[in-house]
Amino acid sequence: MNIYGLTLLELEDYFLSLGSKKFHARQLFSWLYEKRITSYSEITDIKKEILEQVEKDYAISPLRIVQVQKDVDVCKFLFALSDGEHIEAVLMKHDYGNSLCVSSQVGCNMGCRFCESGRRKKVRNLETYEMVLQILMIEKELEIRISHVVVMGIGEPFDNYENLVKFLQIINHPKGLAIGARHITVSTCGIVPKIRAFSNLDLQINLAISLHAPNDQLRSQLMPINQAYPLKELIAVLKEYLEKTNRRVTFEYILLKGVNDSVSCAEELCQLVKNLNCYINLIPYNETTHIDFKRSSMFQIMKFYDILKKNKVNVTIRKEFGSSISAACGQLRSKKEEL
Ligand code: SAH
Repeated sequence: MNIYGLTLLELEDYFLSLGSKKFHARQLFSWLYEKRITSYSEITDIKKEILEQVEKDYAISPLRIVQVQKDVDVCKFLFALSDGEHIEAVLMKHDYGNSLCVSSQVGCNMGCRFCESGRRKKVRNLETYEMVLQILMIEKELEIRISHVVVMGIGEPFDNYENLVKFLQIINHPKGLAIGARHITVSTCGIVPKIRAFSNLDLQINLAISLHAPNDQLRSQLMPINQAYPLKELIAVLKEYLEKTNRRVTFEYILLKGVNDSVSCAEELCQLVKNLNCYINLIPYNETTHIDFKRSSMFQIMKFYDILKKNKVNVTIRKEFGSSISAACGQLRSKKEEL
């Protein structure tokens, strides 16, 4: 067990179980996330006997950074986990701050046809601490503050729901990493029951849905999850989400040449999202060596964009980062493990 996997509430319960006080749990939380200690020996205001027990129960060990690739506005990290598995995190420097794309699983079981991460099945879920440490390690390594977090790296976050929620609670807590909920985005391929659970969480965290197709026939071909949760169910649960949270939802739509980038797809997409409080993020496809899909031309992307605009759909085209350094989801890990 690792100390970075505990929410403040869990830490308080643990301290009570030791016969100590909640107050000391809050002190420890502040040592971890405000003062950023790397060893329990740095703590000066908690009794030695208690700290010895904490050290027995919870390691304070970091993750190992095995590779860093830097470009002007992007920096990609490959981490080795204690069982020898690898995960990636990508830091993007925006004008509004530093945004980190974190991984939620080793591998992924969703099997989206265009995605590098899904080529190898899920090995395991990431533990909460392995998600938290992606942020802590990179802040330390680059001596920066990360202001935005997107859970869009390797894995399907809603297939690791409990650990994800604890991660969100830790990084959002004012005494934890204090990253504002509105600066955190979770992206899912559309696991409907988990979207429903997420709506009830009462956190103001942004939700992004990987849509990628405007009808069931095409979406099921690209994303097997659509066979379990077709568009009708997905849109219905999003309506619930929007009603409950009063928020906006983001749809991600990768443009794949000759597959989902036609005028009729654009028109169908407008119909699908009509009356939903949403915006659409068009994503130029990052081509990868193992997969045959090609990116749409800029001309086609603009044409698609114009149709959405004309239909008064909120739409943006995603700024591209790091295609020169294999920043597309899962590519660095694939190279490392020569998959
Ligand atoms: N499993 C989650 C989060 C991880 S994927 C999800 O599906 O949303 C993050 C985003 O990157 C998804 O929208 C995914 O469809 C997209 N993506 C995957 N491979 C890509 C590629 N080669 N180029 C561009 N986007 C890609």
